[in-house]
Amino acid sequence: MRISNFCRALKNDKGFTLVELMVVLVIIGILIAIAVPIYNKTQATAEERACQANLRILNGAVAQYQLDNDGALPSTLNNLSDYIKDVDNLECPSGGTYTIGTDGAVTCPNGHTLQGEAGDVVNSI
Ligand SMILES: [Zn+2]
Repeated sequence: MRISNFCRALKNDKGFTLVELMVVLVIIGILIAIAVPIYNKTQATAEERACQANLRILNGAVAQYQLDNDGALPSTLNNLSDYIKDVDNLECPSGGTYTIGTDGAVTCPNGHTLQGEAGDVVNSI
């Protein structure tokens, strides 16, 4: 009995009205409009955090290089190959390669810094 009722319900060809379909589409559109910016911001934040971790490692390697070379700064990042494995392929997650200045400061091509959003210094040498 129940199966026959279910089959009869499946054969009901009334379907949805145009207004009901439009309401569903508007709700789905609103949900997408909310979700996409949140997803993009989350991805950008994750890339920035990963870049900050890379900068911390690079700054530590620069300090270690200075200790081993009587305070001399590395001229290129390739000089840090003794301290960081595969330093040639180390890139910012947002794209681009790191550069080292004459003062030993490692900079990201995308402007990421070690300072957090609240302006607190996470790590400095
Ligand atoms: Zn970066």
